[in-house]
Amino acid sequence: MDDLLSSLNPAQQEAVQHYEGPALVVAGAGSGKTRTVVHRIAYLLRERRVYPGEVLAVTFTNKAAGEMKERLARMVGGSASDLWVSTFHSAALRILRVYGEYVGLKSGFVVYDDDDQTTLLKEILKELGLEAKPGPFRAMLDRIKNQGRGLSEFLREAPEFIGGVPKELAGEVYRKYQAGMRAQGAVDFNDLLLLSIQLFEEQPGVLAKIRQRARFIHVDEYQDTNPVQYRLTRLLAGLAEGGTGPNLMVVGDPDQSIYGFRNADIHNILDFTKDYPGAKVFRLEENYRSTESILQVANAVIEKNALRLEKTLRSVKAGGEPVRLYRAPNAREEAAFVAREIVKLGQYGQIAVLYRTNAQSRLLEEHLRRGGVPVRLVGAVGFFERREVKDLLAYGRVAVNPLDGINLRRILNTPARGIGASTVGKLVEQAQRTGQSLFEVLRQAEGLLSRPQPVQAFVELLEELLEAAFETGPAEFFERVLDATGFREALKQETDGEERLQNIEELLRAARDWEEEEGGSLSDFLDSVALTAKAEEPQKGEAPPEASVTLMTLHNAKGLEFPTVFLVGLEENLLPHRNSLSRLEDLEEERRLFYVGITRAQEKLYLSYAEERETYGKREYSRPSRFLEEVPPELLKEIGAFGDTAVPVMAYTRPEPKPKPSLGEFRGGERVRHPRFGQGTVVAALGGEVTVMFPGLGLKKLALKFAGLEKI
Ligand code: ATP
Ligand code: MG
Repeated sequence: MDDLLSSLNPAQQEAVQHYEGPALVVAGAGSGKTRTVVHRIAYLLRERRVYPGEVLAVTFTNKAAGEMKERLARMVGGSASDLWVSTFHSAALRILRVYGEYVGLKSGFVVYDDDDQTTLLKEILKELGLEAKPGPFRAMLDRIKNQGRGLSEFLREAPEFIGGVPKELAGEVYRKYQAGMRAQGAVDFNDLLLLSIQLFEEQPGVLAKIRQRARFIHVDEYQDTNPVQYRLTRLLAGLAEGGTGPNLMVVGDPDQSIYGFRNADIHNILDFTKDYPGAKVFRLEENYRSTESILQVANAVIEKNALRLEKTLRSVKAGGEPVRLYRAPNAREEAAFVAREIVKLGQYGQIAVLYRTNAQSRLLEEHLRRGGVPVRLVGAVGFFERREVKDLLAYGRVAVNPLDGINLRRILNTPARGIGASTVGKLVEQAQRTGQSLFEVLRQAEGLLSRPQPVQAFVELLEELLEAAFETGPAEFFERVLDATGFREALKQETDGEERLQNIEELLRAARDWEEEEGGSLSDFLDSVALTAKAEEPQKGEAPPEASVTLMTLHNAKGLEFPTVFLVGLEENLLPHRNSLSRLEDLEEERRLFYVGITRAQEKLYLSYAEERETYGKREYSRPSRFLEEVPPELLKEIGAFGDTAVPVMAYTRPEPKPKPSLGEFRGGERVRHPRFGQGTVVAALGGEVTVMFPGLGLKKLALKFAGLEKI
C-alpha cells in the first residue's frame, strides 16, 4: 500500500520492494536502515502476501526487538504477533527449548548468567588447587565461544600462560567448566548459539522446519555480528534454491562496528556480496536524524579512519544549532555543567548523557539528582542481579531444574536454616566424589550427617516447590517460596532490609506484569529474565522514562536517537580508551565509537572534557581527546561553565570543596609529616601527587588528596 512507500525516499523504497534473494543495505548512521527493515516486513505481508509466520528479524538488543515489534504492530495490526522478532540469543533459546534434546540438553535446562558462570569457575579452580582469579578464565571462555573454533584451536594460538597458569591447565579448566555445565543441566549465553549451530548441522530435518519459519530473514546491525552469529545466519538462510538465493536482508554500517573487542567481525558485512553471490546492494545516502551541524562533525571524525569504505551521507535537516564544546577544569565541574544545562533545557526524557566507561556515571548521576533531575541509568548493576532478587530467582531455577547445583547451593541456607558451611562442604564433596547431583546427595542426608534434620526439612520444601513449579505461574510460585521460607522476615533483620524488601516486591510485580503481557510457565518467565541482558536494563522504581534523563555507555547507545545528547569525558585514555592506543585497529574502533555517539543526536549536541580527573583514586591531568582535535574548529562553539549566556549559579551547586592542601602548596625541599611514614622531605609535587623522601623508607609517591601531609 502506498503509505508504506510514500514516507520513504526512492532508495529506501527500492530496498523495501526487494522481494526474493539476498540483499545488503549498507549506509551511514541515521539513514533509515532500521526503518527500511520495518517497512520491508510490512510490505512483504501486505503486498507480497507473505505469512507473518515466515518472517524472522534479528536485532542487536531485546529493547530494539521490542521497539520493532511495536512499530510493526502499529503498521500491520494483529498479525504482527506471529512475526518472529528477536535477538540471536532469544531466537536460539526458543529453538533449543523445542529441539534441545537432539544436542543433549535436558528439558528444564537453565541459562547461567555472568555471576553463575563465575561461581562455577571459582569452584573448578578450587577443585584443581589453583590460586587464580576467575576473571581471565571468564575471558578465555568468551573468546573460545565467540570465535566458535573449539578449545584445541584456541590453545594452539594462545600465550603460554592464561590467568597465571600454564595454558594446558587452563584448557583443563575449560573442559571441566563444560562438563560441569552439562552435568547441572545448564548452558551459558554463548552455548545458546553454538548448540543451535550444532543442532542445525546434525539435524537437517529440524533445520528444514526452522527454515519454513524463517523464509524471510532480516539482520539489523550486521556489522557487529561475530563468526558464530555469521554461521548461524548462513545455516538459517540456507543455500540457493531453484534460482532464488536465500531471502536474507542484512543492514548495517561498517563505520559503526564497535564490538570488535567481542570478536565481531567487520568482514561479515564487507564480504556479504561475495558470501551471497547475486546479492542486491542498496545504499542510503540521506540522513534524517541529525541536523547538518551535527552531521558535519560526524563526517569530519569518521573520515579520519584509514580502514574504511567511503560513503556519502547528506543531511536532510539543514542548518541547526552549532555543536557545543565545554572544557571543564575537572570531572566534577564537568558533571556540574551537564546538570546545569539539563535543568535549563528541561524535557528530561529527550536527553541522553553518553560516556565511555560505566565508572563515569557516578558523578553525573550525583549532580543530576542533586539538581532534582530524575535519572534512568542503563547498564548499572541490573535489577535481576541484586542479591535478594537472585536468591528468589534461584528457587525458581532449582524448581524447574533440580540438577542446577550452583543455584541449589545458593539457596541451601538462604534464608538461614541451620545448614552451616561445613555441612555444605561435606555435601558438595560427596556429590563430587560420587558423581551424583547435589540434590541426590541432599536426599541421603540421614546417612551422611549427624544432624540431618535441617537438610531433610529443606528437601521436603524443595519437593513441594518442584510440584508448584508445574502448577502455578511465576508470581504465585514466588509468593509460595516467600511464605514457606520466611524470606521476608529474614530480610527485615538486615540493615538495608527495607530496600531489599522493596526489590522483592518489585520482582513480584515484574512477574505479574509478565503474566499479563506474555503469559506462560515459571520456566518461560525465567528464560525471559535470563535474556534481559544486564547491559540494556534500566533500573526499576524510578520516574517514568519519558520524564528521566538517560545515562548510558556509548556501546549501549547503538541504534538509538535522542533530541539532545551530551558526550562527556572526551579525553585521551578515556576516548580513545587507554587499552586501545597501541594498535591502529583498536584506535579506529574507538573513533567509530565516537562517531556512534555523535550520530545519536538529533537537534543538540554537547561535547565536553575535563582537564583533571580522578582515576583509580588518583588525580590525574588529562588531555583532550585526539578525536576532538580532528574536528575543524569552525564546526564547534566553545561555551563557558554557564552555557551560551551567563546565568546565575543554580541553588543546588555547592561550592567545590578544595582539596587540602591544594596543589602547589608543597615545594621541593619542604619538611612534612605523614601520619604513617613520619617526617620527610618533599622532592617533587606534580599532577596532584607529591613525592617525599622518608629517611629509612626511601621515596614515596603520595596522592595529595589522601596523603594527609602536614607542613612542619
Ligand atoms: P543507525 O545507523 O543509527 O542504526 P538507521 O540507519 O537505522 O540508524 P533509523 O533509526 O532507521 O536509521 O532512522 C533514523 C531516523 O530517521 C528515524 O527517526 C527515522 O524515523 C527517520 N527516517 C528515516 N527515513 C526517513 C524518511 N524517509 N523520512 C522521514 N524520516 C525518516
Ligand atoms: Mg538502526
